[in-house]
Amino acid sequence: MDEIRIRELKVFAYHGVYPRENEQGQDFYINAALRCSTQRAGISDDLEASVSYEEVCELLQREMKAHTWKLLEAAAEHISAVLFAKYALLQELVLEIRKPDAPIDADFASVSVCIRRKRHVAYVAYGANEGDCEQQIEDGIAMLDRDPFCMVARMTKPLKSTPYGGVEQSDFYNGVIELQTVYEPVELLHCLQGIEKAQGRERKEHWGPRTLDLDILLYDDLVYDSRELTIPHPDMMNRDFVMLPLSQLASHVRHPLTGKTIGEMARLPMERHVKA
Ligand code: AMP
Repeated sequence: MDEIRIRELKVFAYHGVYPRENEQGQDFYINAALRCSTQRAGISDDLEASVSYEEVCELLQREMKAHTWKLLEAAAEHISAVLFAKYALLQELVLEIRKPDAPIDADFASVSVCIRRKRHVAYVAYGANEGDCEQQIEDGIAMLDRDPFCMVARMTKPLKSTPYGGVEQSDFYNGVIELQTVYEPVELLHCLQGIEKAQGRERKEHWGPRTLDLDILLYDDLVYDSRELTIPHPDMMNRDFVMLPLSQLASHVRHPLTGKTIGEMARLPMERHVKA
């Protein structure tokens, strides 16, 4: 992919773990590689079709001066989120923040933190069947969209459906969100769990009532399995209330394990409901 690069941008700022760093300040140097297609700008010779490095330099200086972070990691992470939110063209970013005068007792040229971030596409299922469902869904999705690491691209309208899993309870409102996110998968899960909690969710019964449930269905074409997270969501293909809205947003997207498109999978007959 093409890159727009900024090398050794000097900014005086106040980040550091030690109070004297926050009081006296020091020089930081930033290296950035913004990965995006520059072809349209190349053909049209129009700055509007590219990412202005002048504007990015101003943004980097402004963000570095407007905050006081303890860690270079925090500075890099927050600046990365601001860049992805501002530039739709930006697909990947390598961002290094260097601190040549770090106040540590060692002989060194400089220390730095370098992060690599990417714009990911995730599909997230939402569901609610307790309380003011439609309001909780609206509020939860607004919280997600306000999160600096996420952008809600599209979503389906809440659809009413009958509960799944055999527990006696009210109807569900379900749908799917298409999300652009800079979060890595586990961080996205934690963000969604924070929103569930803010919307009043208590984990009582596994299949029980819930004020807001947010599940990651797909995350790019990732296949991932750990104790706390499985992607693609292992149960998604057994649930019409997930597959039908998902197919409205992502009918062309291929499920990374079955190799079939979501559109094909949503049209499959009842055998997918039969569990092993
Ligand atoms: P649920 O009650 O259906 O929301 O299940 C929540 C639990 O499933 C949490 O403890 C998560 O760590 C776990 N989990 C595993 N995979 C996923 C996924 N793809 N999306 C959301 N939660 C997941």
